[in-house]
Amino acid sequence: MLKELQNSLLQIIYPQECRVCFSQVENADYGISCIKCWNETRIFRGDEMLCDKCGAFFGDNAAPVAVFCHKCDNHFYDKAAAVGVYEKGMSATILNLKEQPILPERLRSLIPTAIERNGFFNADLIIPIPLSKQRRLERGFNQAEVIAEQLLRATNIPVDKASLARKHHTPIHRIGMDKRARELTVQNAFEVLRPKLIAGKKVLLVDDVFTSGATASYCAKALKKNGAVGVNIFTLARAVMN
Ligand SMILES: [Zn+2]
Ligand SMILES: [Zn+2]
Repeated sequence: MLKELQNSLLQIIYPQECRVCFSQVENADYGISCIKCWNETRIFRGDEMLCDKCGAFFGDNAAPVAVFCHKCDNHFYDKAAAVGVYEKGMSATILNLKEQPILPERLRSLIPTAIERNGFFNADLIIPIPLSKQRRLERGFNQAEVIAEQLLRATNIPVDKASLARKHHTPIHRIGMDKRARELTVQNAFEVLRPKLIAGKKVLLVDDVFTSGATASYCAKALKKNGAVGVNIFTLARAVMN
């Protein structure tokens, strides 16, 4: 009742327009996207056909055996998984997360299931993928840390924001930049500042969106070089081609 009142008051005082379809957002829990656009966003249920390593999306029906895309064969992490597809409500919410450090309840509520389904509860440490110092200053916060704090609430696994750092400021990815050029910019970008805290640990790396996996892979490489025994990747979204 209170919640309903809160939501109707919110619509009068602060009408939120859906960033996807521009209709009215019905409920504050949905953030900046309306219910319809959230309902049209694919959330992984565990019965899709995904690459067993990087989570690349192959189709709606599960395969009887593990399948691999092989594009990720030389990636340094063990397994990557996401809550859903980078589209509609999800992509709009992630774009907004770069401006405001807020995760709507609709998305927060999906995190524990995704962690559990992928067996990520066994991590010793959660590490948000770092921004460069310059980017962090510009933005005022790191969106991966906002997600990591949410994971801490869901799992009680400690968050380490200081052991992994980004060395150079890498330019914002441009559309004209091909996959190889993007990879080269992140190849040597990460360093482990506190190797003693990493050695022997199973790490869960966290970011907002998984695209080529290059950034996650080079983070995993730096962590494993410093003794991490396992590195999995958790993102809110997975970019898919279809
Ligand atoms: Zn909408
Ligand atoms: Zn793959």
